[in-house]
Amino acid sequence: MKHFLLVEDEQILAKNIAFFLEREGYQVDIEYDGESGWASYISKAYDLILLDWTLPKKDGLELCKEIRKESNVPIMMLTAKSEILDKIIGLELGADDYIVKPFDQRELLARIHALLRRNETTSNKQFVEHWLQYEGLKLDREKLLVFFGEQSVALTANEYKLMEILMKKPDNVYSREFIYEQIWDGLLEYSERTVDVTISRLRKKLMELSGKKYFHAVRGMGYRFGGKS
Ligand code: CA
Repeated sequence: MKHFLLVEDEQILAKNIAFFLEREGYQVDIEYDGESGWASYISKAYDLILLDWTLPKKDGLELCKEIRKESNVPIMMLTAKSEILDKIIGLELGADDYIVKPFDQRELLARIHALLRRNETTSNKQFVEHWLQYEGLKLDREKLLVFFGEQSVALTANEYKLMEILMKKPDNVYSREFIYEQIWDGLLEYSERTVDVTISRLRKKLMELSGKKYFHAVRGMGYRFGGKS
């Protein structure tokens, strides 16, 4: 049985969501503030985390950032704020998806399924080809890690997907629209910035890991992975 952590300070809403998800066959732990959320997160292995944006003690974004430093568990933000800027900040901090309150429980369920499926597709590919490699970098398709020598760094589901698409065909140039369609279509309104933000986060991770720049912007066209800088 899949095990979720729900951190939400509106108690009635939290109980309703948990009740609904439990009826769908998931096990749900509820925490009502950010600190208890963190305590639960480190005490168990969850398959997915649902995180409210504004929480007492430690807010949802802070918690998201801390969890993301440690793990690539799927994170869905629940938010009452709907401005595009907020959405980008959520994704920038490593959330995989968000849903704006008030939301329909069916929609929440559909998005949860999509996130879980994305994670599973990613893990299943290992049997075909476990590693994707390029000039010292190794992408671990099972664990969503990138290795450079013995060192590794964890990727979010979106970062992983983006990296896999570009790394499969080094030197190919991909437009932002194409990248967006592969990753966010149907989930997020198109914005060049979403792609740029994810690329720059990946760049930073790879730079810290290897000291090299692997993603290159191609003026007026998009991005490529590898090749001469
Ligand atoms: Ca709240």
